[in-house]
Amino acid sequence: MPYTGSAGIPAGELERRHHAGRDAGAPRIAGQRRCHVVYPTVRSVNAVVNAVVLISSPIQVRCDKYRLNMELSNDEVRRYSRHLILPEVGMAGQKRIRSARVLCVGAGGLGSPIAMYLAAAGVGTLGIVDFDAVDSSNLQRQLLHGTEDVGRPKTESARDTLRRLNPNVEVILHDVRLGRDNALDILSPYDIVVDGTDNFPTRYLTNDACVLLKKPNIYGSIFRFEGQASVFAPHLGGPCYRCLFPEPPPPGTVPSCAEGGVLGVLPGIIGCIQATEILKLVLQQGTSLMGRLLLFNALDMKFRELKLRRDPQCPICGDHPTFKELIDYDQFCGIVPEPEPMTNPDEVTVQDMKKALDNPGLGIKVIDVREADEYEIAKVDGVPLLPLSQINERFTELDPNQQYYLHCKAGVRSLKALNFLRQQGFKYLKSVKGGITAWSEEIDSKVPRY
Ligand SMILES: [Zn+2]
Repeated sequence: MPYTGSAGIPAGELERRHHAGRDAGAPRIAGQRRCHVVYPTVRSVNAVVNAVVLISSPIQVRCDKYRLNMELSNDEVRRYSRHLILPEVGMAGQKRIRSARVLCVGAGGLGSPIAMYLAAAGVGTLGIVDFDAVDSSNLQRQLLHGTEDVGRPKTESARDTLRRLNPNVEVILHDVRLGRDNALDILSPYDIVVDGTDNFPTRYLTNDACVLLKKPNIYGSIFRFEGQASVFAPHLGGPCYRCLFPEPPPPGTVPSCAEGGVLGVLPGIIGCIQATEILKLVLQQGTSLMGRLLLFNALDMKFRELKLRRDPQCPICGDHPTFKELIDYDQFCGIVPEPEPMTNPDEVTVQDMKKALDNPGLGIKVIDVREADEYEIAKVDGVPLLPLSQINERFTELDPNQQYYLHCKAGVRSLKALNFLRQQGFKYLKSVKGGITAWSEEIDSKVPRY
């Protein structure tokens, strides 16, 4: 019988002893070769403790005993037959999968393959947290959602897709923004949490909640052509996300996928790696990614691996944690709430931009400061390009006494360009609020939004 943590010894007690053993100088289990330990009967607490140290990735799946003991139906035997004939899965493993409860944070690019493969594999309970609605720009990679789902809540669209894949799976929807006030309650009933988030506040929040609740956190992230994945489980001796990245990057320094782009199949690859790690943990098979950061580059088609160790100074999973409850993650990540819309004297509207373009007599020139690739996707007729990335070499092409309106995609980069040019002595500058997106929404819908 595989270890379930329910062999007469409470899982919490096992964890406590496991930690006590490690703190007393036992070798770290991270990186240690996994041994399959099968023990039909547990004779003593010591035997169990040793076994926990030997197995590199034992999770305390609080198996739903009813589901674990229930035989598979004939339909289930047929559906999961390719699993059942794997010695590493078999009947017992498939019952473990059926009794597992996994929470997927995010129903986007990563959440799609994760949830779909876990549902197909027969994970009994699948929770989905997302508060977003499906946008047509999601469809290039978020396979949970189809064209007809645009505008629907992602959770509902995800539930319909997962039900179609496997009606045996119980899908639980959490159509809320995960925050410090609800995260512990939402995560608690699940055995494993998988991080399919796309922003730093939710990533740190997910990490911290998992550390506090002693739940494995299956991490993945993607950007452009690169991705990474790991398994964070400090309660099992591995590191957490904060051991790797104690501080978030300053806001605005790391572009999101919406700003920087992402190859559509990339979340498919990284999400499948996360789903694989989850099934391995549930089955207690193989060597988990705990203590290892897997790096993937799609352009080179290369995987690399970094060894990770738990940081004893880590503020949440270290030996002397400095905080023991969830914090304000927007504040931690330097995200200040949007102030009440105020008129910025440096900004003009897209209506002003249209006036300038329609009336050359006004003597105002409009310049697009986006990058060449974006200019190819969408542009306003008659507006020349001077990319922000080249502005410090090419600003001499402009006349410091000329009046310019600068526009970008949404109005952030044009303000940066404005500030730069002002430092170079340009006097008559305005930034177009909302950029070409606002232009498309308010002036000319033929200009595509991207
Ligand atoms: Zn840590």
